Amino acid sequence: MTNLRPHIWVLLLAAVGLIYLASQYEGSWQVALPLFFGMVLIARWTDRRRVKREAKVNPSKKLDASGLTMEECSLVDAISSPVFVLDREGGITYANPISERTFGSIMRGQHIQARFRAPEVIRMIDDVIQSGQPGIVEFHERVPTERWFKVEAAPIVRERPHGPTGKIGAHYLLQFRDQSEVRLADRMRSDFIANASHELRTPLASLTGFIETLQGPAKDDPKARTNFLGIMQEQAGRMARLIDDLLSLSRIEMKSHRVPDGEVDLVPLLKQLRDSMSILAEDVGVDISISSEVENAMVRADRDELLQVFENLLENACKYGGSGGKIDVHLKKEESGAWSVTVRDYGPGIPEEHLPRLTERFYRVDVDTSRQKKGTGLGLAIVKHILNRHRAQLKVRSTLGEGASFSVQFPPQS
Ligand code: ADP
Repeated sequence: MTNLRPHIWVLLLAAVGLIYLASQYEGSWQVALPLFFGMVLIARWTDRRRVKREAKVNPSKKLDASGLTMEECSLVDAISSPVFVLDREGGITYANPISERTFGSIMRGQHIQARFRAPEVIRMIDDVIQSGQPGIVEFHERVPTERWFKVEAAPIVRERPHGPTGKIGAHYLLQFRDQSEVRLADRMRSDFIANASHELRTPLASLTGFIETLQGPAKDDPKARTNFLGIMQEQAGRMARLIDDLLSLSRIEMKSHRVPDGEVDLVPLLKQLRDSMSILAEDVGVDISISSEVENAMVRADRDELLQVFENLLENACKYGGSGGKIDVHLKKEESGAWSVTVRDYGPGIPEEHLPRLTERFYRVDVDTSRQKKGTGLGLAIVKHILNRHRAQLKVRSTLGEGASFSVQFPPQS
């Protein structure tokens, strides 16, 4: 009742007044009826004028072909996920700019089914149109890339600006919320757990096997015992290295959101690194040379973590590129004002197709070589995580037969 517009109230009151007057005085119906219809005409005319005046003052209140007012279109445009407005037949009457960027060009009037053929989405939209109740469904797309969305549809419920009072159920809002990042993170997590268990299970199985052999057939064989104990020690060492790297990775991940607040001078850090790597370098017969264009190079960093980054890179250069006989570590200032440190070896290099995946956990170019060299497949993943926390970048370049270079670029100092 309270939704009735003023002119209807005036007419109702006038009608009651006229009925009362007509019942009091004989013959007054002839005057009351034309008077009443006259008032109806005047009320309609004033109401039309009011609507016109309102539209002039606030043109955005007018609905356009999309079924939205201009203000509503701007609101839909401001939503950071793809949103479509549909009519009762499922035709697209409006789409915000991000929906075109996400799903390619979309024509107004096109049926939603022409773009999204997934039966679950179409069924949900039909249900929402039929029932007038909001709906939600998951949508998985494989082409052009694998993506997951939560799709929500709901009728646009509002009062008509003019005409009979009531709700409009002629248009529907269809929103796509991208869940791909969450899904991929979940997948990576479960892949990681599977890989980590597999990596641990292999040396564990080998340890169990040797223990059984030593308890049984090789019980009284001193030569076999010495041999097997050596292998067991190696396998136990492999498990310990893996656990150390896994713990390291999870520690870094836990503080990944915190930018380090220490100040580190890269020049003495690199000198310290050469000393700590000298034994390994001697073992594999490589010469490490460190050069710098400057006396000091301050960066915002966690000293221990930076040492871990360069130790991993130098260790890899020794292990996989040691055959080149030398490793160059060079510190310089980029044109952007940022410091960069490059570790370059002259070994066999890395085939190009492997370069983008090197920092994935447990990714190795050659699993057997990595195991022989006591690798866990986690070294470069740790490097990447530490650098992410430092807002620094790792650039890998390699030419087969000429070696590989791993360059760490720090963000320009403010
Ligand atoms: P790993 O513990 O196996 O060394 P990393 O994550 O440190 O694991 O390295 C991943 C893989 O990248 C290595 O297994 C190796 O195949 C390759 N790699 C890393 N550094 C070099 C390099 N300097 N030259 C050639 N291959 C390299």
